[in-house]
Amino acid sequence: MNRFETNLRIPGPTALPSAVREAGARQMINHRGPEFAGMLERISAGLREFFGTSNDVALLSCAGTGGLEAAIVNTLSPGDRVLGVTIGSFGDRFARIAATYGADVTKVEVPWGQAADPAAIRTALGAGSPWKAVLLTHNETSTGVMNPIPELAAAIRDVAPDALVIVDGVSAVGAVPFEQDEWGLDVVVSGSQKSWMAAPGMAFASLSERAWEAGRTARMPRFYLDLARHRESQAAGQTPWTPAVGVMFQLDAAMGLMMAEGKSAIFLRHAACAAATRAGLEALGFELFADQRHASQTVTCAHLPADLEWKAFNAELKRRKLVVAGGQGPLSGKVFRIGHLGTVTLDEILACIGVIEEALLVLGRDVTPGSGLAAAQRAGLAALGVTATTGIAAG
Ligand code: PLP
Repeated sequence: MNRFETNLRIPGPTALPSAVREAGARQMINHRGPEFAGMLERISAGLREFFGTSNDVALLSCAGTGGLEAAIVNTLSPGDRVLGVTIGSFGDRFARIAATYGADVTKVEVPWGQAADPAAIRTALGAGSPWKAVLLTHNETSTGVMNPIPELAAAIRDVAPDALVIVDGVSAVGAVPFEQDEWGLDVVVSGSQKSWMAAPGMAFASLSERAWEAGRTARMPRFYLDLARHRESQAAGQTPWTPAVGVMFQLDAAMGLMMAEGKSAIFLRHAACAAATRAGLEALGFELFADQRHASQTVTCAHLPADLEWKAFNAELKRRKLVVAGGQGPLSGKVFRIGHLGTVTLDEILACIGVIEEALLVLGRDVTPGSGLAAAQRAGLAALGVTATTGIAAG
């Protein structure tokens, strides 16, 4: 760790590798020229790899929410019946976007901390028809829950085979195995500031042929986010409007790093960091918020004990340059969240757990020095296949 920099452990924007930061400082280029076209193709190819798709992936210069809005307005018409499956605040937002544009949204509201249940989706879909689309959140960043997307998509396919499956993959695609084509997902959206190790400013939307087809008759209004225009421009090596070139420089550099590391190493690193975070927090006496069968690999959410005041606790963390996220909406002041996605390493997680342990000791809580660190290290190494006692790789 660097004492002049924070350990930025929020679930995006994430800290950036220095090569990515430097790439963002490059001189501008002509966004209608061949150098740009080459960069656009490199980034798109990388995205296709991590999305698990052969689709055209649209690169939009906007926040992740803009990508979700694009997913809605490019596939739906006012009055279309939509099932919004929500397991937290981002699922609520997704449903709200669809309703804002006039979709007839029915919500399946899963208690926060739980994942959606394929059986419940079947029941909800069976209760009415025809459904035009189902909205799913892959990783609910507000609760630290990762939905079982393949199982949910299979349930939708069974009961409502014509419904488009539209997935908010903003905070996990790129960090965990993902197979859009194999799982039959029609639209998947992600954002540059999450797993992709770049600054905020770009969203990605991958549409199946079925989704593009739906777009031809979809009547929701759109102009800036009209994906047909994006598809047409991207085929010519451009974007329809001036893109966030600086963020694209970063994405290009980050994608190079991701390709060099390889998918399986990236996924393993995230799994190890997630395991270490969970074990460290639990050893320090925190109760994890999520149903652990569906614990997120990119963000961990923990209850704040009733006698631990968030402001005082967070002040001790910030004093030690650790930046974590608080709770959102109804969870404000009740939970805190640790992001472990992007360029995160096990060492950074150990530093984070160490600081939390120190803060608890300073606040006079009953904590055994080193207990959180030891548990985190053991769990992280075990996830990497190393036994902490011998240092010898398992198997
Ligand atoms: N969906 C999920 C699951 C997210 O985690 C976020 C951001 O945290 C968003 C959507 C919205 O992304 P943005 O803040 O870039 O609009």
